[in-house]
Amino acid sequence: METREKIIIIGGGFAGLQLAKTLNNKNKKVILLDRVNHHMFQPLFYQVACGRIEPSNISFPFRKIFQQSRNTQFRLTEVKEIDPAHNKVITDEAEFTYDKLIIATGCKTNFFGNKDLEGKAFAMKNTQEAISIRNHVLMTFEKLIIEKSRSDDGNWNIVIVGSGPTGVELAGAFAEMKKEILPRDYPYMNFKHLKIILVSSTEKPLAVMSSEAQEKSEQYLKELGVDFLSGEYVTEYDGDKVYMKSGKQIPSNNVIWAAGVTGNVVEGFPEEKLIKNRYIVDRYNKVKGYDNIFAIGDIASMETPKYPQGHPQVANVAITQAKNLGKNLLKKNLSEWSEYEYHDKGSLATIGKHRAVVDLPFFKFQGFLAWYFWMFLHLMLILSVRNKLAIFFNWMWSYFNKDSSLRLIILPNKKNGTLQ
Ligand SMILES: Cc1cc2nc3c(=O)[nH]c(=O)nc-3n(C[C@H](O)[C@H](O)[C@H](O)COP(=O)(O)OP(=O)(O)OC[C@H]3O[C@@H](n4cnc5c(N)ncnc54)[C@H](O)[C@@H]3O)c2cc1C
Repeated sequence: METREKIIIIGGGFAGLQLAKTLNNKNKKVILLDRVNHHMFQPLFYQVACGRIEPSNISFPFRKIFQQSRNTQFRLTEVKEIDPAHNKVITDEAEFTYDKLIIATGCKTNFFGNKDLEGKAFAMKNTQEAISIRNHVLMTFEKLIIEKSRSDDGNWNIVIVGSGPTGVELAGAFAEMKKEILPRDYPYMNFKHLKIILVSSTEKPLAVMSSEAQEKSEQYLKELGVDFLSGEYVTEYDGDKVYMKSGKQIPSNNVIWAAGVTGNVVEGFPEEKLIKNRYIVDRYNKVKGYDNIFAIGDIASMETPKYPQGHPQVANVAITQAKNLGKNLLKKNLSEWSEYEYHDKGSLATIGKHRAVVDLPFFKFQGFLAWYFWMFLHLMLILSVRNKLAIFFNWMWSYFNKDSSLRLIILPNKKNGTLQ
């Protein structure tokens, strides 16, 4: 008979995976549930979308991570509902009971209820979506060359909506692709008319960073030839044209939506447990009103004197909340539990080669030193030595060759009329 406490973790992102690692080989039975079979390193999705690195370099199968574990099991399944009254998690395939439940389901792209945008623009919140962007953008050029369509009608424009780190990094990478790679891959095409357009509701890019970072990133985008449209709100997209609140219209078949996220809330909790689609938690990450249910990472909203609106939805918060909760769960007495406190270590973004901006708590810098710092930090954060080496090799290869050989178009196979 099982005597160990049974802990179910929903979601193996930065938070869920860190928690499972903290509890690994301890006296708890841990079951990790995720709808995908791998952990995803989201900060480098944009490099997959631009064909700079392989998806496998930033994806880590859970079964491999916990191959040697004595107490952790993984189940590939999507959680549909939580039944807190009966300590049960419900999926399409099965039900799982728990002693303690940890919700670490993160966020999904927020289209703010606009179904047209959701259906036609690309999101970049999982590996599959990053690969879809790569496929679609590359297919645009392949179609153009076959159909011999006009290259100056704007349909091939790449429009990125949202000028946070994801939007800025994508725009920089596509601008470099336009300059260095596309003319070599498609020598008979003229890329003069291809525009990389970054649409922003704010006046400057990277509004969450310092004014120095905002100024510099705007300058870098300009140097790379990105059209930065500030103070614009996208209202519609019909697959051919992007419509703005100001009346402006931009032709494009390639629209990437990087303008917001919202929590992956699982059914089963009353409305008052949530604020802005995040579970309200106390300083121990315990969900309001429950003793054995916790939420960590992007999906948790914890009010503290330093963060009255909740913490920023970034990887470091997810990881440190998971570490704190993991240590608490291993303590014998509740009286020994530690409250969570976030110490912001800063933020950074890169905008093409040799261009990055770094805001540390007591020091801000930009330029090529910042770019090396960005590369070093991301290499350190990537799981597994093999992947660190693979990414380092790919980066060095494209650094010296101004090229990469990862521009594969891999589309789903159609069999008997259905996708396989
Ligand atoms: C493109 C992009 C770039 C980013 N860049 C940075 C960056 O440079 N720096 C930074 O600090 N942060 C960055 N972030 C934010 C960072 O990735 C998140 O803050 C972090 O991933 C949050 O971790 P999490 O564990 O809460 O959620 P996630 O990492 O999103 O993990 C959630 C997990 O839950 C699973 N899941 C969700 N719902 C269910 C369900 N119902 N059933 C089963 N499984 C489920 C998902 O499959 C996923 O594995 C970026 C995010 C994106 C999308």
